[in-house]
Amino acid sequence: MNVAMDQFAQAAHSPSDWLKSWKAGSGKKIIGCFPLYIPEELIHAAGILPVVLQGSDKPVARAGEYLHSNVCHPVQGSFDQALRGEMHYVDGVAFADICEQAKRASSLWRLYHTFPFRFNFLFPHVLNSPTATPYMIRELGRFKRSLEEFSGREITSSALAESIALYNRTRELLAELYRRRQRSPGSFSVVEVSQILAAVQTMPKEDFNPLLETYLAGKDTTAGADDRVPLLLACNQCEDLEPGMAGVLDGAGALVVNDDLYPGYRYFATPVPTVPQNGDPLEALSQAHFNLPACPTRHNPVNNWGQHMIDRARQSGAKGVVLLMQQFCEIHYFEYPLVKNRFSQEGMPLLMLETDHSGAAGRVRTRLEAFLEMVKEA
Ligand code: SF4
Repeated sequence: MNVAMDQFAQAAHSPSDWLKSWKAGSGKKIIGCFPLYIPEELIHAAGILPVVLQGSDKPVARAGEYLHSNVCHPVQGSFDQALRGEMHYVDGVAFADICEQAKRASSLWRLYHTFPFRFNFLFPHVLNSPTATPYMIRELGRFKRSLEEFSGREITSSALAESIALYNRTRELLAELYRRRQRSPGSFSVVEVSQILAAVQTMPKEDFNPLLETYLAGKDTTAGADDRVPLLLACNQCEDLEPGMAGVLDGAGALVVNDDLYPGYRYFATPVPTVPQNGDPLEALSQAHFNLPACPTRHNPVNNWGQHMIDRARQSGAKGVVLLMQQFCEIHYFEYPLVKNRFSQEGMPLLMLETDHSGAAGRVRTRLEAFLEMVKEA
């Protein structure tokens, strides 16, 4: 195995164990971000490691004592991990109010998990409103001040510009990984790419970036074309793929040429614009947020989630889309009928598979194989 891949796999296998060990070695603070879109660069510029809180492979055990069973797994799984005492490595949490369930999660965490730092990032929800940008910059300023108070360290513009440059390098490297996969999809398994994507949400970028450079330098990308159906893999879920799902996709013969995963393309899709000399890095961070790909949690009438997936599939040479839908994610399910109609109008094959982190991977294989066969014969 590529030596860098071995390290990605270790971080991906158990982010909590990996982070406990990292913290013991570095003595640094860690802030967990939940679920998406928290501007990690600000946390990094305060000298703290930002990580995206991941789901766990373990079944949800105790969250049911506090949460309804119809709450999505990212909320249940992360809350459950904290209840089981598996998040002691975290010094604080930053919540993004991207949906009702994430908002409720934040309130529950306030009551039951008391970390030294806690912040609720209140994003603008109507992105085309004239007040959205000034509001977003103010909210970034509020986050910055809160981090400064917690860390006891001023976040200077130059420190923030350096953090932005580091994170943009991560984005460049991931974009290069995706370009190579698109050119030679047979050289990359879904398991392999998903482990890299899990690692990037856990490891410090100072360690991740050189490892990904090593991986790319040593990666054999000479696998020729085969007769499998090229696919775009998409999802709505605010956590890594369900355990076993990547293996099922590989085992069923899915040839993923590109993705639109939240724990994937969307993690690096919008580089932060370069901060001009004497410019305001908060403005640059704000702009990156407004450039995010269409997402049902960010209302903008010009964005269309279904069309975005179709366009991305066509640009990648995919012949169909497999959409993994997180069970009980209301905000994405409300939009799903529109997505389905758009795919039907555009003649793009779509397979929606509901996932729940409780064994869905084992149940979907037959449907996946039938879909691949249908697209192949179309
Ligand atoms: S999966 Fe859906 S419901 Fe759950 S936190 Fe994410 S956006 Fe909200």
